[in-house]
Amino acid sequence: MTPILHVRLKMDFQQILLEIQEEIKPFLKEGKVADYIPALSRVNPDQFAMSITLFDGTSYHIGCSEDKFSIQSISKVFTFTKAVNIYSKALYTRVGKEPSGNPFNSLVQLEYEHGKPRNPFINAGAIVITDTLISHYKNSKDAFDYILDFIRAISDDQTITYDQEVCDSEYEHGFRNLALANLMKSFNNIENDVHDVVKTYFKHCSIAMSTKELSRAMLFLANHGVDPISNHEFITVNQAKRVNALMLTCGHYDASGEFAFHVGLPAKSGVGGGIVAVVPKVMSIAVFSPRLNSWGNSLVGTKALEMFALKTGLSIF
Ligand code: GLN
Repeated sequence: MTPILHVRLKMDFQQILLEIQEEIKPFLKEGKVADYIPALSRVNPDQFAMSITLFDGTSYHIGCSEDKFSIQSISKVFTFTKAVNIYSKALYTRVGKEPSGNPFNSLVQLEYEHGKPRNPFINAGAIVITDTLISHYKNSKDAFDYILDFIRAISDDQTITYDQEVCDSEYEHGFRNLALANLMKSFNNIENDVHDVVKTYFKHCSIAMSTKELSRAMLFLANHGVDPISNHEFITVNQAKRVNALMLTCGHYDASGEFAFHVGLPAKSGVGGGIVAVVPKVMSIAVFSPRLNSWGNSLVGTKALEMFALKTGLSIF
């Protein structure tokens, strides 16, 4: 460990989180809660929580860090991790690894690029990833059970589950995602039944977790694929490198450059208001605040992470 890092790790993280909680207050009314489904539009918009977990399991929290919220696109990190572990390089014949520069649910690029999504973190890419998992596990029920088991394993928490109401609501209003899946099916890039794939995708998006659980769950990605607490290797060093690289370049859709510029950490957002971030070799972080900016990322969550990176000097750059 370099002396500089050593000094940084001696920081009072609880104090830093408390400062952030105070400093984000003026921004708590900015932005807009996701309202594309009733189940998400009903959340209390003024919530804020932030958690960090260090390699020895020490954790620090502020706000409603034990309250569960819909992880939405954060689940794409977990499904991509599973798929890359199963298919390795072969996965990239189905999905790319470039930033899209487009909104997360855009259809336009997909037509030009013959049904191959730019990356696994936009909706089209995540739907393809779900399809690859259904093919691997032979049916959607088993695929979802494996996804949930995986999330429970990395979180070391068997109680994590999904929210049926959010899931049903997503499907009822899922026209755009069904359009994406149908378009990809027309290019032969979806192997299974379109409705089955999209339903399974919604199911993993509707998994509910707290910032406390999410910051614990992401630890293996901060440590080259090995959970530093249990020493269990979930994925290889190279696979962990790929997941982190895509979080940095694609984790915030068409605001990924902006996020890298201001925060400088591999991270993934969800339209439920959560963001997870990784400080390689040091810790993982989760933040939650449901009001979103114009790119569909948590407005206060992004600000809080920017403040954290500034105050601690922790970034990959
Ligand atoms: N379930 C959401 C959707 O499919 C996920 C999007 C997100 O979190 N950005 O639209």
